[in-house]
Amino acid sequence: MPLALVDCTSFYCSCETMFRPGLWGKPVVVLSNNDGCVIARSPEAKALGVPMGAPEFQWRKRLRDWNVAVFSSNYELYGDMSARVMTVLRRFSTAMEAYSIDEAFLSLDGMTWAQLAACAREIRQTVRRWTGIPVGVGVGTTKLLAKLANRAAKQGDGVLVLDHDSPAGHDLINGWPTRELWGVAGRLAARLADLGILTAGSLRRASRSLIRQRFGVVGERLVLELNGVSCLELEEVEAPRQNLCGSRSFGRPVTELEELRQAVTVHVERAGEKLRGQGLAASAVCVFLLTNRHRPDLPQYNPQAGRELIVPTAFTPELMGECQRILSAIYRPGYRYVKAGVLCLGLVPVEEKQGSLFREVDPAQEEKQRRLMAAVDALNLHHGRNTVRMATAGFEQRWRMRQDRKSSCYTTCLAEVPVARVY
Ligand SMILES: [Mg+2]
Repeated sequence: MPLALVDCTSFYCSCETMFRPGLWGKPVVVLSNNDGCVIARSPEAKALGVPMGAPEFQWRKRLRDWNVAVFSSNYELYGDMSARVMTVLRRFSTAMEAYSIDEAFLSLDGMTWAQLAACAREIRQTVRRWTGIPVGVGVGTTKLLAKLANRAAKQGDGVLVLDHDSPAGHDLINGWPTRELWGVAGRLAARLADLGILTAGSLRRASRSLIRQRFGVVGERLVLELNGVSCLELEEVEAPRQNLCGSRSFGRPVTELEELRQAVTVHVERAGEKLRGQGLAASAVCVFLLTNRHRPDLPQYNPQAGRELIVPTAFTPELMGECQRILSAIYRPGYRYVKAGVLCLGLVPVEEKQGSLFREVDPAQEEKQRRLMAAVDALNLHHGRNTVRMATAGFEQRWRMRQDRKSSCYTTCLAEVPVARVY
C-alpha cells in the first residue's frame, strides 16, 4: 500500500518567514520557551553552522553579527499553521495520520507509480500555494520507506517516489546509512555496525532470523519494512515527545457544547496524567473538533485552536481552564461533531522548565499543586481511572506571556492579522 510522508521544511521557521517576505532566503532561528536555546533553524541558518539546541546567550553575538533573524516560539501560530497544512492534506487521502505537528502519513491506495509521482508533486505545490509552507513529500510502500524517501527528497527537489524494487530504488537503499533510518537510534546503529551492517541495503538482505535473534521484533520489522512488507504501525513507533495528543471519536454524533466539554475534560485529564507520568510540562495546548468528512451531505466544520501557557505546566486545572476557553471560542452550534481532541505542545521536562517574568511562581504553591496531582494520580492508579476527577471546568486566570521576540499571531488573533498597504 503506497504511503506518502509529508513533512514541513523547517516548520517553525517557515511559519515565521511566511508572513515576513523580507526574510525569505535569510537565516532564521526560533528559540525555546523563554528564549532559552535554538529549537528550529532555516536551511540558511543550518548552513551557517548554528547547532540545534544552541543556548541563546552563548550565540547572541554571532547571531547578531551574522544577521540571523531570531524569534521566540509562537505555538499559537505553529498550531494554527499545522491545522491548515493538515486540512489541505486531508483533501488528498481518505486515510491520514497526523504523525506530529509538521508531519503526516497519507495512504495513496490504488495509484500507479506514475500517478503517485504526479500526486506527490501536486501535494507539495498545493500545500505551498494554499498555506505558504514548503513541504517535502516521500512516497514508499511502507512507513519506513516513505520516511526514507522523504529524507532523500530533501536532498533533491522535495519530492521522491521510492519504488524499492526498481534499480533506482535499490541504489538509494543500498547507499543509505543505517543510522539515518527512521527508528534506528545511535546504539542500535552501532550494534548493527558490529555485524557489518552499515547500510539499509545490507540490513534489507540480512537474515531475518539472525536480526530477530539479536534485535528482537523491532529489528525484524525494520528488515520487513525495507523489503516493502508493511508492519510498522504508527503507535508502535515512539513519537518524538514534543507533543502529546488525546482524542477519540464519539459513539454518536455530538451537537451540544456541554457534551463536548465533557469529552475535552476527559482528554485533558488523560493528557495531564500522561505529562506527569513522563515528567513533562506543556508550553501550549490546542483543542480541535471534527465533523464527519465521509458525509459530504452534512455541513462540515473542523476547527482547531491553541493557546500558549504563561508557565509550562502539567497541573490539570490549569490545562483544563485553557482548553475549555478554547472550546468555547471554536464551538459553533448546528454541526454534528464526531471527534474532539486535545493537543499538548512544546513539552519540556518539569525540572527544566523556566519561570516567567510576568507571573510570579510561588514554589510552595507549585509544590502543593504537584502533591495534589500526585495524590490524584495515585488514587486513580490504585482504585481505577476516574476515582477522582474534575468537577469544575473553569479556572479564571488569564495572563498573557509576551516573549521578547515573539511574532504576531497572524492567523488566530484579529488584532494581529497582517496588514497590506497600497501606496
Ligand atoms: Mg519538519
